[in-house]
Amino acid sequence: MQKEILNSFYNSYIKEFFLELFAPAHCTVCGKKLYESKFVCDDCVKNIKFNEYPLILHEEMVYYYGMTRYEGVMEELIKKFKFEGYKVLSKFFSPLILNFIELNNIKFDFVSFVPMSKKEFRARGYNQTYLLAKDISLKTKKPIIENLYKIRETKKQTNLSKKERIENLKNAFIVEGEYSGNILIFDDVYTTGSTAKEVTKAFKKSIKNGNIYFVALSQTFN
Ligand SMILES: [Zn+2]
Repeated sequence: MQKEILNSFYNSYIKEFFLELFAPAHCTVCGKKLYESKFVCDDCVKNIKFNEYPLILHEEMVYYYGMTRYEGVMEELIKKFKFEGYKVLSKFFSPLILNFIELNNIKFDFVSFVPMSKKEFRARGYNQTYLLAKDISLKTKKPIIENLYKIRETKKQTNLSKKERIENLKNAFIVEGEYSGNILIFDDVYTTGSTAKEVTKAFKKSIKNGNIYFVALSQTFN
């Protein structure tokens, strides 16, 4: 009997240990204690506002999507993912993305992401949109295109007007190589679309016989 109690104690102890190791034992958003290996509690997940009409814009060859509204739970999660080192949240976002691309019938042959300049990368230590692309590439077995670069430093977009944002990012990205097929590109937040448009412009020169799907986790509505 005592052995059983001891065993069950060790089993729960070991479970707890691995939970702490691989997933936060508390909801990343509200702090509620979690008993499963998850990052966000069910109540917070329910509060994510998915866009009823996620297609933001469709131009020749290019489709822009915003999965959710950038507010509440999603805003909190993305801020942690981008600015507070919660790289592990890509594991929470990638199933949402997979579900989204299936629901919207997006067919793709390659995945990619919005690149950072060398200076931006040094400051943050990681590129959160690369983490999303890497996860989706692993799960779907589609290759990731990494030959794209942000070739010059730009100002922070936050305090710029729409016109200034466009000017700020003009010709900031290049893609090397040629690719045949559809490509799926990830970003975190779609605001004015100036980043999205510059990135897809760079890809248009490299993609032969295919569409470009630009998917942002969230979209701002102001
Ligand atoms: Zn929660």
